[in-house]
Order: sequence, then C-alpha cells, then structure tokens
Amino acid sequence: MTSLTSRIGAELDRLRSSGLHISPRVLEAPQRARTRVAGRDVVNLASNNYLGFSDHPFLKERAEAFVRTWGVGAGAVRTIAGTLSIHEELEEKLAAFKGTGSALVFGSGFTTNQGVLGSLLQEGDLVVSDELNHASIIDGLRLAKATKKVFKHKDMQDLERVLAEHPTDGLKLVVTDGVFSMDGDIAPLDEIVAVARRHGAVTYVDDAHGSGVLGEAGRGTVHHFGFEHDDDVIQIGTLSKAWGVVGGYAAGTHDLRDLLINKARPFLFSTGHPPAVVGALLAAIELVQREPQIMERLWENTRYFKAELRRLGFDTFGSQTPITPVIFGEAAAAFAASRMLLERGVFAVGIGFPTVPKGLARIRNIVTADHTRDDLDLALAAYEFVGRELGVVAG
Ligand SMILES: *Cc1c(COP(=O)(O)O)cnc(C)c1O
Repeated sequence: MTSLTSRIGAELDRLRSSGLHISPRVLEAPQRARTRVAGRDVVNLASNNYLGFSDHPFLKERAEAFVRTWGVGAGAVRTIAGTLSIHEELEEKLAAFKGTGSALVFGSGFTTNQGVLGSLLQEGDLVVSDELNHASIIDGLRLAKATKKVFKHKDMQDLERVLAEHPTDGLKLVVTDGVFSMDGDIAPLDEIVAVARRHGAVTYVDDAHGSGVLGEAGRGTVHHFGFEHDDDVIQIGTLSKAWGVVGGYAAGTHDLRDLLINKARPFLFSTGHPPAVVGALLAAIELVQREPQIMERLWENTRYFKAELRRLGFDTFGSQTPITPVIFGEAAAAFAASRMLLERGVFAVGIGFPTVPKGLARIRNIVTADHTRDDLDLALAAYEFVGRELGVVAG
C-alpha cells in the first residue's frame, strides 16, 4: 500500500533530483512594466502582458462598472443559467474583431484547446501537430480518439510527408501555434494552409501569442496572413495574454460555435466568466482599435530591444515577435543569469530542458508596450554585465 505522504514525498524527490522542481516567483506589486519581486523594484521582462492591459485604467474602470451593474459571478454554467447578455456581447465583438462569423469564449486558452480538439476529432480522423506546439494542444489531443502524428517544426516537407503517409476518409486537421511561445517565431501559415489544402485538411491555429500582437490592430496571425474569412482555417486563442485578463476563445463559423456549445466539455461543465472579466475584455477590444499607438509602441520596443541585444553579441534565436529568447546554452547558466539579472533589477525567467531542447536553455524576455526606453536600457545594461560575467558575449 502506498501512503499519501510517501506518494507526495517520492514525487517531489523525483522532481528535485531531475532538476524539474520549480517554485513560482511572487510579484509584490501589480503586473506592470515595473513591479516588485523578492523585495526589489524590477523591470519586468517575464510577463505576457504585451499591451500593458493587465493594470490599465480603461479596463479597470469597465470591470468596476460591470461589477456594479452585473454583480461578481455568472451563477451557473453557460448552458444552464450562466449566459448573461454581456457574454454574448463579448462573443459578438470578438467575432467582429477577428473577422470570423462567430466566436465562443471559454474559461481559459488551455480549456479552449481541450474543448475544441475534444469536440471536433473522432476515431478515424488524422491530426498532425507541429512538434513545438503548446502543452494545452498536446493535452487537448490526448482527449481525441483520432490518429495523432507530429511534424518537424515549421517543416513543410515533413508535414507533406506525414499527410501523404496517413490517408483517411475522416477529418484531417493540421494544428499549429500562430506564434511559438518559446522561440517567438511565426508559423508560416501561408505555406501550412497551402499544404493542408492539397491534402483536404483543415488548419487549426492556436494564436495565444499572436492576438494583440500581429495583424491589423492585433487581429492575430490568421488575419496577418489573410485567412480570417476561410472556413477551413479555425482559430483559437487566449484572452489571458495581450488582452490582459483571462479566458480563451474559438473563432470560426456559426455552426462551429453551435457544435462547441453542445459538445465542448469545458464549456458545458464550467461556470462562465464573472462580469468584471467580461467588462475588462470588452474594454480591451475597444482600446486596441481606438489607440493603435499602443501596438506601435510594442513593436518599436521589440525592434529596439532585439537590435541592442544582438549588437551586444547575444543570440536571440529565430525570434520575429516581442518574445525574445536569449540563449545561454546550459540550464545552469540560464538560471544563474536570471538570478544575476534580478540582483541588477531585471526580472526575467530562465527556461531549460524539457520545456526547450538541451543546450538551448535561455532566458525568455517579453517586451511590452508599457516599457519605456529607460526600462529597456536598464535591462540591456544588466544583460551586458551578466553576459560578460558568464562569458556568453565577448568583453
Ligand atoms: C498560454 C497559452 C495557452 C493557454 O492560455 P491560458 O489562457 O493561459 O490558459 C494556450 N496555447 C498557447 C499556444 C499558449 O501560449
């Protein structure tokens, strides 16, 4: 018999001895470009708060107003009595923004992948997934009875090969992140959709890191490549990153939405968003369109930070977006660099195997619209010091 204590103890020991044990850093001030960590004022390069919306007055005001009018909770799952008119308003605004016919909101991006992949795929179907796709896609696919295959990261020949080797009369689905969360590179959707179409496959894009970042006014990767009106391209995403709040969505045809309402288990069996979340998200969709300078600042900061890091001699890998990895090689070096950066007032997190391949341990930085030039210069000076100390750059 295994006791609970011995199960937990053994599992923690296993995690510690394989170097996989983590404990989250705690922010002692709001989620902003400057915050407090470990008792220090820091420049924050660790968040997904691309547009600075997490603590934005315009979103907070709307959240407060919605609490006063609508209360603090939805009171039931969406399919029973938890759909308030504001939920449907958010979905209509989101669909209009995305340029798709319809949208359905979920509790999170994670559960969106579970709900959509779990509802769409059946036995006899084929799903082909990029090897660097997000954990929530991998877990969503575990729920699907379809045949599951992986293709090499952004490798169109390999995608072509996998599709050709597994013919089926069932549904074929090619699944990719829009922007890859560890390397910051953009999926070549034009090529992926072309290959998928040659094989009669539908393309499924998880645009968690593309929405609010790419495409006109942040409409996302699918819009960036001009596929938003195509019924054979499904997009899902999160409302927890650039949108600054929490939630996920699937955007596509009206019938897709109808199917998900009826079949997606995270939608059917989990309570709808509280009004404050809905209000803040409605404000976010409005704000990103009304103030295009916010996204312009995000990209200006991104270009500056990347160019300066490269000038200092750092390897930012294949990044094309505000996600800016700085490669340190071994995990120990990346973790040491993260500690040294924190001592110099920069909060940026080291990431090693198995989240990224061995030898490509890195610090993953995300630049936001809210960083000032001073914030970025402070971070760059700290990087220069740490890079030299660790022998990663010359000097
Ligand atoms: C972060 C992320 C998610 C999860 O989104 P949450 O709203 O935080 O649950 C899903 N897919 C990708 C690609 C992500 O980067």
